Parts: sequence; structure tokens; C-alpha cells
Amino acid sequence: MEALIPVINKLQDVFNTVGADIIQLPQIVVVGTQSSGKSSVLESLVGRDILPRGTGIVTRRPLILQLVHIDQEDRRKTSEENGNITLTSASSISLVMFEWGKFLHTKNKIYTDFEEIRHEIEAETERISGNNKGISDEPIHLKIFSPHVVNLTLVDLPGITKVPVGDQPKDIEIQIRELIVKYISNPNSIILAVTAANTDMATSEALKVAREVDPDGRRTLAVVTKLDLMDAGTDAMDILMGRVIPVKLGIIGVVNRSQLDINQKKSVADAIRDEYAFLQKKYPSLANRNGTKYLARTLNRLLMHHIRDCLPELKTRINVLAAQYQSLLNSYGEPVDDKSATLLQLITKFAAEYCNTIEGTAKYIETAELCGGARICYIFHETFGRTLESVDPLGGLTTIDVLTAIRNATGPRPALFVPEVSFELLVKRQVKRLEEPSLRCVELVHEEMQRIIQHCSNYSTQELLRFPKLHDAIVEVVTSLLRKRLPVTNEMVHNLVAIELAYINTKHPDFADACGLMNNNIEEQRRNRMRDLPSAVPRDKSLSGIPHPSSPPSPSLQAAASGSQSGSVSEPPDGGTGNWRGMLKRGEEGAASERAMPQNPLPVSPQKGHAVNLLDVPVPVSRKLSAREQRDCEVIERLIKSYFLIVRKNIQDSVPKAVMHFLVNHVKDCLQSELVGKLYKTALLDDLLTESEDMAQRRNEAADMLKALQKASQVIAEIRETHLW
Ligand code: GDP
Ligand code: MG
Repeated sequence: MEALIPVINKLQDVFNTVGADIIQLPQIVVVGTQSSGKSSVLESLVGRDILPRGTGIVTRRPLILQLVHIDQEDRRKTSEENGNITLTSASSISLVMFEWGKFLHTKNKIYTDFEEIRHEIEAETERISGNNKGISDEPIHLKIFSPHVVNLTLVDLPGITKVPVGDQPKDIEIQIRELIVKYISNPNSIILAVTAANTDMATSEALKVAREVDPDGRRTLAVVTKLDLMDAGTDAMDILMGRVIPVKLGIIGVVNRSQLDINQKKSVADAIRDEYAFLQKKYPSLANRNGTKYLARTLNRLLMHHIRDCLPELKTRINVLAAQYQSLLNSYGEPVDDKSATLLQLITKFAAEYCNTIEGTAKYIETAELCGGARICYIFHETFGRTLESVDPLGGLTTIDVLTAIRNATGPRPALFVPEVSFELLVKRQVKRLEEPSLRCVELVHEEMQRIIQHCSNYSTQELLRFPKLHDAIVEVVTSLLRKRLPVTNEMVHNLVAIELAYINTKHPDFADACGLMNNNIEEQRRNRMRDLPSAVPRDKSLSGIPHPSSPPSPSLQAAASGSQSGSVSEPPDGGTGNWRGMLKRGEEGAASERAMPQNPLPVSPQKGHAVNLLDVPVPVSRKLSAREQRDCEVIERLIKSYFLIVRKNIQDSVPKAVMHFLVNHVKDCLQSELVGKLYKTALLDDLLTESEDMAQRRNEAADMLKALQKASQVIAEIRETHLW
């Protein structure tokens, strides 16, 4: 197996580079009848006396023998680490430095004497399977560390037997067969089907069981042992030529050490020499294609084929990795030559990316969430728009508030009209409520503009990460530009609301229209009510039976109204349409129903205490309104609502425009010149373009990895051309 070592070592280098799992070499599993020489074959392949062999059933538990290749370096290290190596005999000191074994069941104990390893296998076999020929399917794990082996796993199994002996159960044959099948059905195993030459090959149990799991014979190699023990006058020519049973991968005859050889401690080397002599004498024409050495070479070749089969995938993996590292390296950029040009280029690129992100033309479009211009749009139309729409035109305004305002505006005289001042006062109060969501909209857009900075440096301008100082400086400049624009924009938005408050335009065409419609409605209601008058009841059902506070009844002033308005606006004779003031007339239908009601003065706020009837409880909310008061309130509320909607529409339209003009577009337009003005200075060049240590290191690492991958690729090409002989 040593021929594979250089190949495997080279591959190991490749694996170390690409961090892949090492190619799994196939396990080699021996099967055959009891005493056919399985353990002997494995042992001569390993070249060490480690396995118990003998007549009768010797191997009674599976032995998983893992060979681990170590090189000089590893050996030194390992023996240093194991400072407390258990020396098992004085004679084995020389072995410490070369090879040693370890059992799974003895944990860290190091075996440097192979004889002791053999004893331990025997003892461990007895421990589980007893000392009377019993078997067990619980494997013994043994690792042999040596510079002379490749990383390979060999499995020695109990032999197939027919008649139970000793402690063996009745179904011993079935049990052993199941055990064997379990190991050889692993597709990544090579089956060494061992048959003794002094038995009939045609009845070989080994080949029979191998064929069950490998019908095409792709991974079965036949080994014929005991060529030396054939009856006088017979030979194995027909068998070895494949004339008895053909085996695709080959039939290889071997001569292992006999029981006498074992007893006399014949060395492996001597055995191989004698085997060669025997083959030359008995089978001169087949000598080159048989024997332990040839068997080892054949296995080498099978393993090599396996390795070659794995190479294309490994090669692909290396190529992919190489491409990845190449592009990584590219992304780190070249070391900077012309700093001034680089700085200007980076600044310009950042500014462009920033604007592109707002415009939606950025190279890297975010897919996880809205960002940039799209998000600003969302803020305008969803967040801001929705918030405005959810502002109740009459929110925070109770009927009592309205009523109090009306009364306060009326002053000392009883009024014919609902005073206009009260409408103005109240509607302003409502309009003011639009300011806060508008300022919040500015804040949200400002936040998004801030976020775009991060987006640009993370995704778009990757090179910027190389220069952390420049990155920070750019962030600083943009942030302060944004911060500078914030008060200007806020001021404008504040003014937009202030403008609305400055002049309540009751001549606004939409307002006049809305009032006209309402007047018609009221007029209609009034007429309906007049018709139903005999059965008229107070509008608010909860009022019935309770004394009603109310203003003195007012006469019908339909005609007087149009003539005596305080405003200078001249109006057409009011038919009840198209005129908001028409609504401010005190309704006569209210008066009609009020006449039937007891009168009770309005409670006023305690500050104007002189007007308070001391018997009244001055809790405004629970106070009952007269029908007339109620109508007055209704009128004012409707007017407020109608006017508020107009203003809200204006604000909803103008705030985004203001934000775009004063914040977004301004920053977009000034960004480049602001950045250049603040950062493009000879004095700052060196400092700003200091590369992060991290980045320099990462570039080197990527370059090293790339080199290693290219080397790995070369190694693979070499291995593909390697011929073992
Ligand atoms: P296993 O039961 O299949 O593992 O067989 P072993 O390897 O334990 O061998 C059984 C016996 O056959 C041992 O005493 C070996 O020395 C002997 N033996 C195995 N191979 C040969 C061989 O090729 N020639 C001779 N003469 N004896 C062999
Ligand atoms: Mg055996």
C-alpha cells in the first residue's frame, strides 16, 4: 500500500487548502469460511504481525483496523504530546518513534509492541464472546499509526461456519452470514473473497455471499490461499486462470504462513520471499500475477481508480473556490497609486449611488425591504397620507367646547346669528392639529435619507470599506448636510400650516359648494319638520322629561339675516344655496320646538361666575342642550368639518412637495459639491485613504488562498497522470 502514500499525501495538501473532507478510501473487507486464511491475508497486506490466527474459530468479533498515515512531523509531535506513553516492553522502545496502535476500548493507552496488540485482541474477544468459541457482532476498533501505511480501513470478520460448536448458538451460520452481509453491503467496500485452494472453489461460500451484494462483481476480488497445501498431483491452474469461476476484478493466489511458521515466528519478509520462490517453482507462467505483493498492487490499483473517480468533483470544487477568491480579491481593489484621483472617484461614486438610490436607479436594488426613493414615496403616501386621513376633523372638540365658543363670541347681547368668529376660532384650532403629523413626516424622510448613507456604503460602494476613515468622513459630511436642512424644512412645513391659519378663506370655492349642499339639506329638513310639527318631539330623546337649559327663542330671521350680516361681502338674496353664511342663521324649526320647553340659562365657566345660576351643577359635559343649541353646534361642526377637509387636502399635497424641495432635492443637488468641498483637500488625502489593516490582511489572505488553490489544481492534474507502475 505504500505506493499510494505520495499520492495521498499530495491530496492531503489539496484537502488542507480547500477544507474538504478527505476522499474516503474504500474499506477492505475479508470474507470466507473459517480458517480459509482471511486474517493471514489481511496481515500480510499490512505487513505486521498483529492479528491472531490459527486453526478453528479464532476471529470471533469483527475487527475494524484503521490504518493512519503519519509523517515525520506528526510523529514527533504526537510522541511529545503523549509524554506519558506506556511502554509495554523494553524491546519496543525503538518502535515508539515509528508506529503504534490504539484500541478504542482501552482509550488512550498506546501499544508499541505488536505482540501485545495481538494479545489484547484475544483478551477483548474473550471478554465479550467468552472463551468457548462464541461469537459477537460487536466490533473491536484498532488504529495503527505508521508512516508506512495509507489511510485505509480493513475489516476482519469471523469465518463462515456451518455446524455450531462450543457456546455457539444453533443459528450460528445465519448469524455470521448476517454479520458479513452488514459489512460487505456497504457500497464503499472492496470485498476480498478468500477461498482455500485445498477446498472446492466451485462451492466457495465467500464468492457466494459476495455475489449476493455485488452481483456484477465490481468490487469483489477473489483470493485463493493455501496453494502450498494442495493434494499431491493437483494444482490450482484452472482456478487461477478463472476457468472454474470467473471473477471480474481477478483471482489471486497466495501462500501465507502455515501454523508451523507462526509458531516459529517466521517474519513477514521471509514469508513473502518463500511465497515468491514457491510460485516460481509451481506456477512459473502465473508467478507475476499472483502472490501477496501482486495482491497488494492490485488493491493499490483499485484504490487509485477510486481516487481518480473522485478527482473530477474535487477539481470542480477547487475551480469554484478559485473563482470565488479571485472575485473577492478583485473586490478588495488594487493598492492605491494616484490617491487624489482615487479620492475624487470614490466621492463621486458615493454621491452618484446616493442619488441613484433616491431615484431608484441604483445598481444594487434592495429586495428585503423598501429603501431610498421608494420608501420616501411610501412615507408620503402611506404613512403621512394615512395619518392625515385619520385625523378627525372634529377631534378633541366636544359639543360643549363648540357651544362655549359660540356663546363667548356672542358677547353680552343675545344674537340673531351664530357668530362667525366662533367658527374661525374653532376651525383654526383643528387645522393646527395637522402640524404635528406634518413635522413627523419631515422627520421620517430625514431618517430615511440617513439610512440611505448606510445602504450606499454597505452595498453599493464596497471599495469604501477599504478606507474606513474616508467612509466615516463621508458619513459625517452627508449627515451634517442633512442635519442642516432639517430646520429649514421644518420651518417651511410649519409655515405651510401657519399660512392656512393666517386666513380662513370662506370664499374658497369648494367650501362654498359644500355649504350650499348643506344649506339645501337643512332647508329640506326644516320643511319636513314643519310638516310634522304637531307631533314634533325634542330631537334628543334623552332630553325628554328633563328641564332644558336653552337660549331665549329667537324669531325667524330668514329675511333679516341676509341684510344684517356683519361681513362686508354682499350676497345674493339667500335661497339657502351656495352661501355658507346661510348656515349661520338661527334655525326657526329649532325655535318652534323650543317654545314648548322650560327655559334654563346656560351655565358659563366659573370665571364668569356672575352668570352662573347657583342651583346649576357646573359640569359642562353632563349638561343637556336645547334643540337650538344643538342645531347651532351642528351647523358649526359641519362648517368646521367641511373647511378642515379642504385644508387637510392642501397640507397633504404641499408637505411632500416642501420636503422634496427643501430636503430631498436640495441634498441630492448639493451632495457632490459638498463632499468635494469638505473632503477633496491635499492635506486630507493621506489620512482619508489609509487602508484598514483588516483589509490589507484580508487581501493577503485571499491572495494566498488563491495561490494554494492554483497549486491544488496542479496537484490534481499530476495525480490524474500518475501511473502506479
Ligand atoms: P481465518 O480463520 O480465515 O482468519 O484463517 P487464519 O488466517 O486464522 O488461518 C487459519 C490457519 O491457516 C492458520 O493456522 C494459518 O497459519 C493457516 N494458513 C492460512 N493461510 C495459509 C497458507 O496459505 N498456507 C498454509 N500452509 N497455511 C495457511
Ligand atoms: Mg481469522
